[in-house]
Amino acid sequence: MKKIQMVDLKGQYDEIKDLVNTSILEVLETTAYINGPKVHQFQKNLEEYLGVKHVIPCANGTDALQIAMMGLGLKPGDEVITADFTFAATVEVIALLQLTPVLVDVNEDDFNINIEAIKKAITPKTKAIVPVHLFGQCANMEAIMEIAKAHNLYVIEDNAQAIGATYTFKNGTKAQAGTIGHVASTSFFPSKNLGCYGDGGAIFTNDDDLAHIIRGIVNHGMYERYHHDVVGVNSRLDSVQAVVLDAKLPHLNTYNNKRQEAARKYNKAFQGNKNIITPKVTNGCEEICDTCDCHVFHQYTLRILGSDRDALVKHLNEKGIPCGVYYPIPLHKQKAYEGSRYNEADFPVTNQLVKDVISLPMHTELDDEQIEFITSTIIKFING
Ligand SMILES: *Cc1c(COP(=O)(O)O)cnc(C)c1O
Repeated sequence: MKKIQMVDLKGQYDEIKDLVNTSILEVLETTAYINGPKVHQFQKNLEEYLGVKHVIPCANGTDALQIAMMGLGLKPGDEVITADFTFAATVEVIALLQLTPVLVDVNEDDFNINIEAIKKAITPKTKAIVPVHLFGQCANMEAIMEIAKAHNLYVIEDNAQAIGATYTFKNGTKAQAGTIGHVASTSFFPSKNLGCYGDGGAIFTNDDDLAHIIRGIVNHGMYERYHHDVVGVNSRLDSVQAVVLDAKLPHLNTYNNKRQEAARKYNKAFQGNKNIITPKVTNGCEEICDTCDCHVFHQYTLRILGSDRDALVKHLNEKGIPCGVYYPIPLHKQKAYEGSRYNEADFPVTNQLVKDVISLPMHTELDDEQIEFITSTIIKFING
């Protein structure tokens, strides 16, 4: 059996190696290293793929979130509601901009931000909601957009984990993850569903004015050369990353389908085991369907009941099976973000999930033998 890896990027590289190598050499020869025509070309291709008016490439997904918030003109003291169960980048940029993060609980089934908890957290100071499309599936965007409309709030989608996922509204219309809110951010970190070979990120919006503002912010607040109209940052995508992304973009749907295929096999193996809760597909879909990309499985995350999750992690590592715990500590309990505003009774789900969850190897190169070894090792451990 091939050595099992949490993330395996070599197979993808081998498939597009000739194109990537020649494109990178071309960048080196033409010397347009940053913001050159290759970045523009990738931007156009991603706009077309997503069906969004504006993609603004930038240096990474954390910057993308920060710049989106700067572009909306959020001011110190404004409250921004986001999920307690996510990667720290989401809350970090809120705090960095001296906005007030308001962390709320998530759903037990899909791990995404809980709608009732959002409603409860709204105050006159609330200015924005940041839903995180966790592990590859959209938060309940229809309900979030309704709340935002009723309270005049901005919605910033953190789409670092769900690029290529589709969201289906109750009336049947579909939209790509990251094109529903006022603005969205994504990350091209190598292990994300669309990853480059370094750092990269992008902001998406359908709002022409906001896109213009953001294009200046990413480049030192410059709209005209050496005229700095607003305080900006330096956050640019380089051309080497752009050609890698452009080589991979035509394969994104295939990559996501391979992840879904692996998820189906995992689900099938765990079916019927009372102590293993497999990931739930929500937002109108019952299961991983062939017709829509409702879940693109950035992570395949189980909940383990009735056994010691940490002992399972240790056991799997001993057997040569890598796994991850995303996330082991609720953000509201992290030293940097804890605060007197939080009441433990408001976080029953996150407080439980941090004890239960385990993410299994998930990438485009998993084979049947590996999946069978991973699932049988887990089942044997759980069944004692
Ligand atoms: C990866 C990730 C980010 C940050 O992206 P970087 O490119 O690593 O800065 C932000 N939010 C979420 C949910 C992520 O998973």
